[in-house]
Amino acid sequence: MSSLAIRDLHASVAGLEILRGVDLEIRSGEVHALMGPNGSGKSTLSHVLMGRGDYEVTGGSVTVDGEELLGLPTWQRANRGLFLGMQYPVAVPGVPVGELLASAVRSRGGDASALDTLLASEATRLAVGDEFLARGVNDEFSGGEQKRMETLQLAVLKPQFAILDEIDSGLDVDALRDVSRRVEAMTSEDDLGVLAITHYSRLLTELRPDRVHVLMAGRVVASGGPELADQLEETGYEGLAAELGVDALSVEQPEEADPFADPGF
Ligand code: ADP
Ligand code: MG
Repeated sequence: MSSLAIRDLHASVAGLEILRGVDLEIRSGEVHALMGPNGSGKSTLSHVLMGRGDYEVTGGSVTVDGEELLGLPTWQRANRGLFLGMQYPVAVPGVPVGELLASAVRSRGGDASALDTLLASEATRLAVGDEFLARGVNDEFSGGEQKRMETLQLAVLKPQFAILDEIDSGLDVDALRDVSRRVEAMTSEDDLGVLAITHYSRLLTELRPDRVHVLMAGRVVASGGPELADQLEETGYEGLAAELGVDALSVEQPEEADPFADPGF
């Protein structure tokens, strides 16, 4: 049993504070859904957890089993068991997924010899055709193909924790079912812990969350069971914000003072 703990996390980009004290804890085998309006900081959280360079962490901690990850480069966080499925996956022209995974496995000191067999069986399970195994990763892939490819990498690498940023966006019904079932199976078979960022409760009917959290303007403003996602379908983010007395939904650049404004005297 492992635990990914995020405590009072603050982070800024280009001088604007985006994460304003995020607290979340995910244990092995649990699925946590993170919902929230556009611009509330969901993708920022995923990048900060993985250690992307353009975000400045200004406070708090991120630990796996008590070991601090902040300050470690991305590859070391991956070695500690973290995986990020990106909202907009990066294309790697000329590098097929098998090569990418082999180097990931070797960098952890693992044995890449059984990789081909595993990759083939996962590709079948996720309906990823041979053509997509041969091409450069995500090179000219459709949205749905990219998300199947992200899930394929997740299934082969078997991390301890997966942060999935809108893995359901751009997916048709069949792809959504394949992807969410594969992830759901990993939570029970491999004890994978999941932070699933999503807008849709459709994903959550397959990938049943233990907890649902709502992020607004860089803070978790509500946490609850799956019924919170249903409530959001009814009220929308505006409605929930009104109910909670939260005034900012998204993170916005503060308006600059207008030097020509009427000073009022
Ligand atoms: P969400 O994923 O919830 O829609 P994001 O985390 O993508 O929200 O963005 C939150 C806010 O941070 C937005 O106002 C966005 O413009 C800003 N932001 C995020 N990343 C960057 C960046 N690299 N440079 C500048 N602004 C950014
Ligand atoms: Mg986002």
